[in-house]
Amino acid sequence: MSDPNCVFCKIATRTIAADEVARDDRAVAFRDLNPQAPHHVLVIPTAHATHLSEFTAEQPAADLAHLFALAAKIGARLGRDGYRLVVNEGASAGQSVFHLHVHVLAGRAMQWPPG
Ligand code: AMP
Repeated sequence: MSDPNCVFCKIATRTIAADEVARDDRAVAFRDLNPQAPHHVLVIPTAHATHLSEFTAEQPAADLAHLFALAAKIGARLGRDGYRLVVNEGASAGQSVFHLHVHVLAGRAMQWPPG
């Protein structure tokens, strides 16, 4: 399912361009426009989902596992010394695009806690 008002749905359907690094039948990965690390990739499900909380039933959970497996694969490729996966779930956590996405950050040392 696609939301015509959602920028990440438009990337998933190639209605707008993105710097893609991976794509398969369930997910797309592309470089963030405003990178927070030397490598900053977003991994999204092709079908529109706003929040992690939508992934509860058996099949959607498999889609979520697929999303994180792809994010981990990209992280391992980009981050020789490690990488960070981030999901901002909800506006108060920093979510600004309401299509679920996993940030893959790599290429620099990172602090914890993130602030
Ligand atoms: P979040 O704040 O977790 O919702 O992250 C949204 C991310 O999407 C931000 O890091 C933005 O820089 C990024 N972003 C927004 N629009 C685009 C776009 N068209 N192409 C690539 N990255 C985008």
